[in-house]
Amino acid sequence: MKYLGAHVSAAGGVENAPVNAQKIGASCFALFTKNQRQWQAKPLSDKSINDFKSNCRSFGFGPDQILAHDSYLINLGHPEQAPLEKSRVAFIDEMQRCHQLGIAMLNFHPGSTLKKISMDNCLATIAESINLALQKVPDVIAVIENTAGQGSNVGFVFEQIKTIIDRVEDQSRIGVCIDTCHAFAAGYEFVSRNGYEKTWDLFDAIIGFEKLKGMHLNDAKKPLNSRVDRHESIGKGQLGLAAFRHIMEDKRLNNIPMILETPDDDIWAKEISLLKSLIKS
Ligand SMILES: [Zn+2]
Ligand SMILES: [Zn+2]
Repeated sequence: MKYLGAHVSAAGGVENAPVNAQKIGASCFALFTKNQRQWQAKPLSDKSINDFKSNCRSFGFGPDQILAHDSYLINLGHPEQAPLEKSRVAFIDEMQRCHQLGIAMLNFHPGSTLKKISMDNCLATIAESINLALQKVPDVIAVIENTAGQGSNVGFVFEQIKTIIDRVEDQSRIGVCIDTCHAFAAGYEFVSRNGYEKTWDLFDAIIGFEKLKGMHLNDAKKPLNSRVDRHESIGKGQLGLAAFRHIMEDKRLNNIPMILETPDDDIWAKEISLLKSLIKS
């Protein structure tokens, strides 16, 4: 089946995220387990952890239906030692928070060269950062999100993501999340039937469907290959309903969290219904 949800607010405590997801008719959700724009966070209280788990249980959100997202400040491929170390400490903390909450998957943007190191060097640093985190924290799967290739961000073509994956020691704990807006901005087609099939054929040949742990469903404001990351509401952008119809009909994409990160959170419930209506029964 298709799990459809959104990146919901965890304001007031992580335990509110499953409540907010349930309110919009979601069958999966994403959340930040701490303020995404700050380095420091208070440790999770036992009450927050217990309430989060019990809310997930009561609303039926299992481990395949929750995809945490890490802080935007973290750069696991940072060219300089001190900020790289800071990012690694913060990432391990994010992994630990997921582990405490019983969340199986943490989604993150791979990193940026900041135009100071080569792409290859950056990808190798990212893989080393992932290995360090997986050694420190058990169970949680590190899920690399493809980027739009804006600025000096890496991980916008499948080959770059594969280069990182190949260097990860524990292959059972590394996965990928495909963001449709980012992929389109990076030049991957989803609109025409041929383009759609070609995109996933490439994905399967280079990375493999077994590594696909989640998707971010976002329409795109900017055209194909713009390398600009601007999300749009479903059906209102350059991807349009045609692309989302292909996605909803694609059984290879069943049973993974499909998360809206579209700009108007007032219409998330409507967008979920709209996407459901595109599924062929
Ligand atoms: Zn993201
Ligand atoms: Zn995303």
